Amino acid sequence: MKSVLLSLGLAVVSAASAAAPKGPPNIVFIFSDDHAYQAISAYGDERRLLATPNIDRIAKGGMRFDRCLVTNSICGPSRATILTGKYSHLNGFMNNSNSLFDGSQVTLPKVLRQSGYQTALVGKWHLGSDPTGFDFWQILPGQGVYYNPPMIRQGERIQVKGYVTDIITDVSLDWLKNRDKSKPFLLMSQHKAPHREWAPALRHLGSDGDRVYAEPPTLFDDYANRGIAVRDQDMSIEKTMTPKDVKFEAPPQLDPEQRKVWDAYYEPRNAKFRAANPQGKDLVRWRYQRYMHDYLMTVRAVDESVGRVLDYLEKEGLADNTIVVYSSDQGFFLGEHGWFDKRWIFEESLRMPLLVRWPGVTKPGSATADLVSNVDFAQTLLDAAGARAPADMQGRSFVPILRGQRPADWRSAFYYQYFEYPAPHRVRPHYGVVTDRYKLVRYYGTGEDYWELYDRQQDTLEMRSVYGQPAYAEATRQLEADLARLRRELKVPDVIPPHWLGGRNPNAKGPDNAKNPGKAKAKAKAP
Ligand code: CA
Repeated sequence: MKSVLLSLGLAVVSAASAAAPKGPPNIVFIFSDDHAYQAISAYGDERRLLATPNIDRIAKGGMRFDRCLVTNSICGPSRATILTGKYSHLNGFMNNSNSLFDGSQVTLPKVLRQSGYQTALVGKWHLGSDPTGFDFWQILPGQGVYYNPPMIRQGERIQVKGYVTDIITDVSLDWLKNRDKSKPFLLMSQHKAPHREWAPALRHLGSDGDRVYAEPPTLFDDYANRGIAVRDQDMSIEKTMTPKDVKFEAPPQLDPEQRKVWDAYYEPRNAKFRAANPQGKDLVRWRYQRYMHDYLMTVRAVDESVGRVLDYLEKEGLADNTIVVYSSDQGFFLGEHGWFDKRWIFEESLRMPLLVRWPGVTKPGSATADLVSNVDFAQTLLDAAGARAPADMQGRSFVPILRGQRPADWRSAFYYQYFEYPAPHRVRPHYGVVTDRYKLVRYYGTGEDYWELYDRQQDTLEMRSVYGQPAYAEATRQLEADLARLRRELKVPDVIPPHWLGGRNPNAKGPDNAKNPGKAKAKAKAP
């Protein structure tokens, strides 16, 4: 009897210590720019474009989200939504042309800071105004450059030598090492890569051994069975790529030594291209191969950086009480529909990669197809930190999903809206509702007002609109009802001011408005 009691007592003690509060979790938010889920091996894309063993460590240790949907598929707006937990029309950052982030808004880092967190932001920011809510920040001005980038550290402009992805990781790790260790922390480590013009670390040039990458089945999409928007865009590998995109022009930031390494890789291959002088579909195929080489090699450096951060957390004994998030501001086309870039409600552009590792809470190696969004990130991370989210945030905490306890009333329909037009890339403004099966889309604001409906169950590649077909009448009625309800709940205005599409913003102050007049600049065409 005594021994039974003793062992029971021990059991109680050990259970108590396992459940003992470890304090609020640290949060490492690793974020990249334009990183397509097709280029993360944990997502299992059939082209098997690249192995990302370190990013996959997050998936193996946590949860992979297969449908994390962006509210507005473009860089600045996605970032503004993550910070504020609000859609573009409420946080004021509608497009990259003339928006300037209002840093006086309540944001995720500000609420965490009030809750006792130390906060830092390193890398790509791209919101025009200076960051607010961070104890430390060091950002790239604007889009940033890949080699020897200028940076802004707490308002002071500095010049840093090296490759941008490595630098962002170095600065992130330095901050982690020197932080106030008495507080939990939020580190937002945000990469420029793999954003255009997809310039790899010099050590990775040629590291794919001139592999020939599989083409997506829609590389030569003829744009039939859909409206004018898909035909009239300016984001195709065939028509839009520039000499810089295909590396017939070296980045001016390379120093002479770096330039030698660059030329040693690209020059012989460019000479071969000139000699072969491919035309038509062969030219598109050549460009696709070059695009994949460069884009995927930039991801390789991101993956190495993720490994360095995970190694540091493990070495310091921080991993057990740190939530690690990997995501990117939107998806990206890797040749699907003949495109690069983003902006569309189509799946490659709409879906953000999202991997979350939360030891002791999230089941390792789990996955979900529940509809989550960047509009949920702030409330989710605040919930995980035990902080109260402001009532006017528009998302919902997906902590229950991370715990494996999906709420019965989790959203089944998601609202999307894109604004920026015509420059750059001439993607017509559109909004719509997305469910597990359907997308009902309205193109608006350009004088051509029309609807499309996609049935992903029958048409996984989204190649034909079935809008108006009698077989879809009932589904369309339901989607219209969802759309109307979401627009009402999210307070989307019926009439939007023209400057939300770009152009001159009568309300904005500051450099962004002057620098980006929202007009198409004539760009050189790729050879
Ligand atoms: Ca982006």
